Amino acid sequence: MSIDVEVWRAQARELGRDHGKAAASWVIDGNTDHEHIARMVRMFDEGDPALEQYLPGYPNLSGEWADELTPDRLFEQVTGLDAHAEATFNQDAYQTVLEELCGAYEDGVSETFQTECERILRAALPTACPDCGEPISLQPSGWWTHDGMPGDCWRQSMDGPNV
Ligand SMILES: [Zn+2]
Repeated sequence: MSIDVEVWRAQARELGRDHGKAAASWVIDGNTDHEHIARMVRMFDEGDPALEQYLPGYPNLSGEWADELTPDRLFEQVTGLDAHAEATFNQDAYQTVLEELCGAYEDGVSETFQTECERILRAALPTACPDCGEPISLQPSGWWTHDGMPGDCWRQSMDGPNV
């Protein structure tokens, strides 16, 4: 069983990367308002730990939901072997491989989840004022400003997080 461990590790990591990306795609939907998106981007910029509660569930191996992976299922999916049989007849090797695969999966998730959330959020930031169509930018302060010359847009004097 040991010959394939490196290959399996790579597969488990790839699976984690895929799951991290897929989970991140839930960070916003068509109804998420600009203010919330801007707030989350700001939290990324500041490294605010409270951000976590606004992000989608982090993929793990707890099997909390019916279709979620557990270490056993990860083992079977990657190796094509029967987890119960290996755990019974090949106990030490099974445990070693299992730990390797779980670690690789978690590495994969951590490689993609946050970066993908951040990429999606930044791409979703509005670039134009909803009222006058002028280009707008999110300032480090968290406030929006019109990039162009002040016009007669009422938001010119009210630039703020609520664009
Ligand atoms: Zn405007």
